[in-house]
Amino acid sequence: MRMDRRELLRQFGAAGAAALLPSIGEARAASADSAARLIRLDRNESAHGPCEKAKAAFRDAVMEANRYPDSEVKNLCAAVATLHHVQPENITLGCGSTELLRMAAETFLGPGKSLIMASPTYEAMALAAQLVGAEVRSVPLTHLYAHDLDAMLAKTDGTSGLVYICNPNNPTGTLTPKADLEALLAKLPPGVSLLIDEAYHDYVAPSDGYASWTARAAADPRLTVTRTFSKAYGLAGLRAGYAVSSLETAKRLAARRLPMDVNAVAARVALAALSDAEYVKKIAQLNSDDRQEFYNQANARMLRSLDSQTNFVLLAADRPGKEVAELLRSHQVLVPSGYPHFQNYIRVSLGLPHDMKAFWRAWDASMPHHPM
Ligand code: PLP
Repeated sequence: MRMDRRELLRQFGAAGAAALLPSIGEARAASADSAARLIRLDRNESAHGPCEKAKAAFRDAVMEANRYPDSEVKNLCAAVATLHHVQPENITLGCGSTELLRMAAETFLGPGKSLIMASPTYEAMALAAQLVGAEVRSVPLTHLYAHDLDAMLAKTDGTSGLVYICNPNNPTGTLTPKADLEALLAKLPPGVSLLIDEAYHDYVAPSDGYASWTARAAADPRLTVTRTFSKAYGLAGLRAGYAVSSLETAKRLAARRLPMDVNAVAARVALAALSDAEYVKKIAQLNSDDRQEFYNQANARMLRSLDSQTNFVLLAADRPGKEVAELLRSHQVLVPSGYPHFQNYIRVSLGLPHDMKAFWRAWDASMPHHPM
């Protein structure tokens, strides 16, 4: 039987309850402990954590956590602008890029407006659109797992406020070619804005088919690009992200910002993380090695997966992904599933080697017809 604190006090009186409280504390510790043993391959976090400079900045910043944020946020804005060769006025900061998606929904959408997005893609954009009363129109990916830009364009009409492109896409990890996006921008109807979510940009291997759109966004009021410190920078828990856009769009987005949203600790740590570009390159290389090892393990079991440019892989389970995720969960391994058009898949975030070993152990125990 579960009893809350108030019920305890009522039934046992303060003294009796006080005597029982240590056991509640122990129960909490036990539940935190079992949460700690979970192998979280479900949120596309960086397995490698932040760089040493960011850790040192955290230790310093927390000593001044009694102060409201001030120049830290301006400094971060300036450093992000320098990184992208734009003006600080082109940058809008947020509590993670999810916060920027909310601001974009409030800026470009609302009742009677529609959002055009892929299916499957990062669902937070759809949720933000629904929260402001907009309609969500989804378009399946192409057979190459790119956004079907022609079909997305065909879905636009006078109600359309925003087209959302996640590049690389979550949950597929796949790219939409640069030339196709260029063509989309050329054909975008007046009054429709385009948001390109580049959360996984730092993991993408250089190629002719891929480019970031941050420089273009600063010059084109129709385009907004979002980025995050939650992935390759390893700062998901601190909640910092940003958008690059034209001055006009930045003003419109910033009007939807909550006062003092980005906290001083996050701003100082993100600033320190930005100063270590080598670390981000190292993380991209480590990630690419981890991903290769994942493919090797999948191949050894004759499993198919999508070619990913990110820190996660969509793996074919050849049976309902939800069932497989449940089986893996019984081994303390968490992965998401149930993606539209990919019901027989699970998405696996790349973890540290011991986590991946645990994943494959759990897989082999759960899928006896695929033994190693
Ligand atoms: N965009 C994409 C495509 C994501 O996959 C995620 C998180 O998984 C985010 C944005 C949100 O990141 P943030 O932590 O910056 O809110």
